[in-house]
Amino acid sequence: MTFADLGLSDELLRAVDDSGYGEPTPIQRAAIPSVLMGKDLVGIAQTGTGKTAGFVLPMIDILHHGRSRARMPRSLILEPTRELAMQVADNFAKYGKYHPLSMALLMGGVQMGDQVKALEKGVDVLIATPGRLMDLFGRGKIMLTDCKLLVIDEADRMLDMGFIPDIEEICSKLPKDRQTLLFSATMPPPIQKLAAKFLNDPKRVEVARPATANVNIEQRLVEVSTDKKKDALRDILRHEEFRNAIVFANRKTTVRELASSLRRSGFAAGQIQGDMDQSDRIAEFERFKSGEITVLVASDVAARGLDVKGVSHVINFDVPWQPDDYIHRIGRTGRAGMTGIAITLATRADAEAVAGIEKLVGYKIAREGKTSKSEAAKPAKAEKPSPAPPPPPPPPKAKPRRAEKKPRDDRSPVVEDVEGDWNGPVPSFLSFKAD
Ligand code: AMP
Repeated sequence: MTFADLGLSDELLRAVDDSGYGEPTPIQRAAIPSVLMGKDLVGIAQTGTGKTAGFVLPMIDILHHGRSRARMPRSLILEPTRELAMQVADNFAKYGKYHPLSMALLMGGVQMGDQVKALEKGVDVLIATPGRLMDLFGRGKIMLTDCKLLVIDEADRMLDMGFIPDIEEICSKLPKDRQTLLFSATMPPPIQKLAAKFLNDPKRVEVARPATANVNIEQRLVEVSTDKKKDALRDILRHEEFRNAIVFANRKTTVRELASSLRRSGFAAGQIQGDMDQSDRIAEFERFKSGEITVLVASDVAARGLDVKGVSHVINFDVPWQPDDYIHRIGRTGRAGMTGIAITLATRADAEAVAGIEKLVGYKIAREGKTSKSEAAKPAKAEKPSPAPPPPPPPPKAKPRRAEKKPRDDRSPVVEDVEGDWNGPVPSFLSFKAD
């Protein structure tokens, strides 16, 4: 099946062609025709499946007809985090380049003045995080009575972050005869309830997690002593054939320090961590995406949810403290069907954390070399993990899932603990089979 078979306009087909996509992904094949027909939709799909284009493409064609009015957006997309909101906005810019649609982004941590000005002119598409939207709604700056198309994206993450009451309130302010699309990687009962209450006879589409995720990421573990970690990292960056790399460290101070140290060694390195201003983080992310910097040193908190196509390497400068952070981190590479390499530097003191990760993923990560620099840099071709790892062991019991953490208020200027998507190995207890 081609994009042309899905009923999209010629302008959109041209934009899709410019993006270099050969054919629609399964979620796009299933979602696009039915969204174009005006049906409600429940899409069970995670990031990495192409779900964003699955709703952005038909929305552009739907919104092409009609005009926006001041303060009354014609469509609303709810995203749990600012990073995701920005990525959806990027998608609109990319696919909508032959359609003159207006768009506004409403998210915490960014000056409200400009966002309000954009709204006052009238927008076709409003992309918002729930906290900021409720804020503006409360101040009378926005009316949702003309909003005929609603997308609730990443609904299960909204649940984890405590946003469901806000979403219910937002839904009740939209006209009843709207079209609603809900996307979620899993369908826990509160999300099923939300769908039952606010969607009208939705078409249900479920796609598997990207099937190639496991085999697309080659994982290696380099055993190294603490005082040699920086040398080992520099050696990897000098010897690996990498296009760009995200280097994860556990502490913000390490992120800062490592980014400066790499710059001093001549690498085009930048950083993203939770202490930075939102605008600085956006600027840094854009520099990485554009290729101006090729190494992005990041903390877990700031890097979750980031989607950069074609990240060739993820390097764990520190072994993450929580096993599931490992899965989130390495899922930054090997996205959208591409291959990636994940290298973890581990000291003796990390033995327990490494064991926890291996228990979670269900196989032993290939070891490479000992502490020596040159050995650390050599790719361990012979030790490549088997492309089909054995099935994961039974779920570990002790660690509470992120869902049990405190809800986050996105009015804060700093992104806090945000559930990320991943594209790495999927432990069995995270797989959900909807009924
Ligand atoms: P998403 O699941 O929406 O976060 O998309 C994951 C990645 O897949 C993004 O980098 C998209 O640009 C890319 N993508 C979306 N649709 C396609 C397609 N039909 N073919 C290839 N890549 C795509």
